[in-house]
Amino acid sequence: MARLSLRNVKKQFKDTKVLHGIDLDIGDREFVVFVGPSGCGKSTLLRLIAGLDPITEGQFHLNGQLMNDVPPSKRGIAMVFQSYALYPHMDVYENMAFGVRLMGLKQTEIDARIDEAANMLRLGELLKRKPRELSGGQRQRVAIGRALVRKPDVFLLDEPLSNLDAALRSDVRLEIARLHRDIGGTMIYVTHDQVEAMTLADKIVVMNLGRIEQVGSPRTLYETPANTFVATFIGSPR
Ligand code: ADP
Ligand code: MG
Repeated sequence: MARLSLRNVKKQFKDTKVLHGIDLDIGDREFVVFVGPSGCGKSTLLRLIAGLDPITEGQFHLNGQLMNDVPPSKRGIAMVFQSYALYPHMDVYENMAFGVRLMGLKQTEIDARIDEAANMLRLGELLKRKPRELSGGQRQRVAIGRALVRKPDVFLLDEPLSNLDAALRSDVRLEIARLHRDIGGTMIYVTHDQVEAMTLADKIVVMNLGRIEQVGSPRTLYETPANTFVATFIGSPR
């Protein structure tokens, strides 16, 4: 189970204020999409949730437990980056096994999980290949597989399609939607692409300049945007 709550979450780098007090609740198994222009703080917010950067002020609770000082590896949260970040010298199998080995899983359990993830993401034939022998879409599927084998309660995906060409993009997008249906974890997905947001999200969080402008279903945002910024960003007729 995974319920997240952010209360008055602020982030400041030296004298630059990036997040100005984020309040947000995310329910179990929800597919939440953060949208907003470049530089508005989407990646920063994901990094705070993952624990890769400390929260300056405010609270983040996961299932009622305060997470502010919990290290990333103890949060049950896995993050997929825009840039894949695969280890170039390791094959696909090793790339997926590396993180779970550190978790101390037994070899049989590791193999079972990789098998399952490889089937789900159609990577079965590619386990012995190095990243440089893969297409962009295949690399991104490996990056997703690497998160999947950790069996996290929460998946964070930061613009996972932005390095793919148009054809692959719809391919991997469908894969992510199917994954969410099959495994049922909570997904938090960052994009600046309205189409991705409208097709994937249960709930869209529209951000601008370090603040949340509106939270709602794709339909709510389209039909009743809170302001001109949301209307323009979502592309609604108003
Ligand atoms: P987005 O993902 O929405 O494009 P980011 O969260 O990456 O935006 O960045 C939000 C703002 O925070 C930007 O102005 C960026 O320059 C700034 N920022 C992000 N990381 C750092 C950092 N480590 N140090 C200083 N400023 C940062
Ligand atoms: Mg970003």
